[in-house]
Amino acid sequence: MTSLAYHRDNCRLCASCELELVVPLGPTPIADDYVPASRLNETQPTFPLDLYLCHACGHIQLLDVVDPNILFGNYVYVTSISTSLVEHFREYTDEVLRRANAAAGALVIDVGSNDGSLLNFFKQRGMRVLGVDAAREIAKQATESGIETIGAFFTPELARTIKQTHGAATIVTANNVFAHADDLGGMAEGIRELLAPDGVFVFEVSYMVDIVEKLLFDTVYHEHLCYHSVKPLQSFLARHGMELIEVERIAMKGGSLRGTAQLAGGPRKVSASVPEHLALEQRLHFDKPETFRAFATRIDGVKAKVLGELAQLKSQGKTVAGFGASATCTTLLYHFDLGDKLSFIADDNTRKHNTFSPGHHLPVLPPQSLYERKPDYVVILAWNYAQPILGKHQKFLEQGGHFIVPMPELRVV
Ligand SMILES: [Zn+2]
Repeated sequence: MTSLAYHRDNCRLCASCELELVVPLGPTPIADDYVPASRLNETQPTFPLDLYLCHACGHIQLLDVVDPNILFGNYVYVTSISTSLVEHFREYTDEVLRRANAAAGALVIDVGSNDGSLLNFFKQRGMRVLGVDAAREIAKQATESGIETIGAFFTPELARTIKQTHGAATIVTANNVFAHADDLGGMAEGIRELLAPDGVFVFEVSYMVDIVEKLLFDTVYHEHLCYHSVKPLQSFLARHGMELIEVERIAMKGGSLRGTAQLAGGPRKVSASVPEHLALEQRLHFDKPETFRAFATRIDGVKAKVLGELAQLKSQGKTVAGFGASATCTTLLYHFDLGDKLSFIADDNTRKHNTFSPGHHLPVLPPQSLYERKPDYVVILAWNYAQPILGKHQKFLEQGGHFIVPMPELRVV
């Protein structure tokens, strides 16, 4: 292991060392590190991508942690460019305000606030807002555009400073960062520190139940350290002086959980949704390693079918490309050993064009490339979006091309 990463030996939620490797995935480079031509001579390091189950609390997690300065230091993803995400934030703001029953002028703090898109909606509803984001350049831009944002990692010390300068928060939100932080305990301490006695903490995280049921294994990459379910989260929050009072399944990222917590002994009742989700996870045997080993076996079953199909096409002299150049595609390319089987990758995102995929250095080209280079088959790596991609590229099918949808079941169109 290099100094770019380290392997932790205890659970991120409960500190137990009783951890068992349950889903070994192929090691990958940093999943979203698509490189320009000037970096093609670099060999990008790979890091283990293995999911472990904590026997003490049931939390599923990566233990190999890539230095966040490398992962997020050059983070360029800006929220507001995604219109569906902005729409999601609008709905989210209304829902959070309903849950918090907050008066105008109350303080809302978003941890991992990116360009301030979410806080902007709270501001429009008359709230005082403050963002915290480790990406310093994005934080600076957010502040300049009117959403005060501290460009730093969120720590208990920073939380104490914020409380002194801004007061206690009626609402604290933390969306995907609650799956990204290695020191999740420190983050929870900081949030408890900031919350007003009647305040709420609202977070969204990918839900392990959806990941297992829909085979979303490619949402596993090094930025996402935690794969949450309700039972481990509930006990984690309790250990940090907070009480989980409501959970809801939402469609974000193929299936996520929106959770609400308050300070222990706070004014709100625990909703029936909490015991309902605990019962669901119990029924699915989420405390047993066999459950997750079976998940790994299902993934490898699909992998074998995809490789069999590609070997057959290759023996017939067919050319094959890929579609989709996101972080999830890197996990799929590596775990399915597809790096040497595709000639290029097409993607709609103009910022990815003329870059090269992490590690394998497959060229990323605009979607027109399907019509110019005319590959015989195109593997839809972004298989969650197979339907819209197929819809948009009927012409490719009409010119005699075929699409391969690899997951959740191999399908050739
Ligand atoms: Zn644990």
